[in-house]
Amino acid sequence: MSKALGAEADALLLELAAITSRPGMIARFYLTPEHRRAMDLVGAWMRADGLEVSEDAVASVRGIWRCGKPDAKRLVLGSHIDTVVNAGRFDGPLGVVAPLLALREARRAGLRINHDIEIIAFGDEEGSRFPATFAGSLALTGQFNPASLDGLDEDGISLREALIAFGKSPDDIAKAAIARETFAGYLEVHIEQGPVLEAEGLSLGVVEAIVGQTRGVLTVTGVAGHAGTVPMAYRHDAFQAMAEMAFALERRARSGRDGLVATIGKVSIGPGLVNVIPDRAVFSIDVRSSVDATRVEAVSMFLEEAHAIAARRGCTLEYVESQVAKRVACDPVFRAGLAEAIALGGQRVRELPSGAGHDAQVMAALGPSAMLFVRCKAGVSHNPAEFASHEDMGDAIAALAAALPRIGNVRNDTD
Ligand SMILES: [Zn+2]
Repeated sequence: MSKALGAEADALLLELAAITSRPGMIARFYLTPEHRRAMDLVGAWMRADGLEVSEDAVASVRGIWRCGKPDAKRLVLGSHIDTVVNAGRFDGPLGVVAPLLALREARRAGLRINHDIEIIAFGDEEGSRFPATFAGSLALTGQFNPASLDGLDEDGISLREALIAFGKSPDDIAKAAIARETFAGYLEVHIEQGPVLEAEGLSLGVVEAIVGQTRGVLTVTGVAGHAGTVPMAYRHDAFQAMAEMAFALERRARSGRDGLVATIGKVSIGPGLVNVIPDRAVFSIDVRSSVDATRVEAVSMFLEEAHAIAARRGCTLEYVESQVAKRVACDPVFRAGLAEAIALGGQRVRELPSGAGHDAQVMAALGPSAMLFVRCKAGVSHNPAEFASHEDMGDAIAALAAALPRIGNVRNDTD
């Protein structure tokens, strides 16, 4: 049965994957016409399942199944529908499709709940368009920072302007929040994006914690000059300074302590001409570790080293931190509920950390938050080769349906 559920999930994922801004690949960004179409599609699915559908001021699609009790708390299930460039179809959308099908299954099996269940499709998790990310979950938890409205996309459009053009009112963002006292918890289904479950022959895993993360942008300013007439000793080459900093960062991360990883994923050089010594190099850093102190120390020691490199080369260096997220532990009660549901399916329960950031870490500020990981082929994600099988997605949906009565005071009649 669960393989059929997985096939059903995949049919929905394929529909969503067809909505893209770039032919031949999946690319769906926050507050774009493609985001609009994806929201409409998800809203239509929710409506067909009898959910009460709405959109909030940061363009999250929200579908509620009400239990009928006036003072009911709310259990939230969801993930994101925005993507990176040239994405796979599972990262994010699976966390919207799986709860839809799981709720349908659970209701078919006679689920009675003491809480309202809300399924949410967030629009801004990958951070592919604006400097700040997590607009949906930050607004939902009352943590949205109004300063991020001034962040610009590559075309110089601010988040504020984009929201207004999308028909949303930035003044209403505060109204998107769920009150703490009515929040029962958050559960997110997501592909693992790593190789552990596949290596251990398991379709599902329970996330124990989401690792901490620091993101920032370094700008090196040097002196432009003629590539032929300025001798090497007289140069203040911004690119060469950046290159030395890149190696310094990698060396630090290679210590491997506490799962420390560091990535420079975005680089630009000015003026960007073949015969001109670069006077400007801008690059991003992304540093993560399962221990916050290790990450914080690695970033600060790297910055110290980078400043020394800039000074020695006669360049200046500016660092702007764009995002800091502490390690977030997943809720023990929800983890136990997921573990029981997985064991029901006859599988060994594997707990593992998430190296990737997720809305679940933002939601944890409001109350219990947890994640169910689904095996993906070779741990590949953010790539069209991303793949989860029908069997594995079916297992996830079945486990989620079985977990619903076990978490957040949602009960079956038979319990
Ligand atoms: Zn994701």
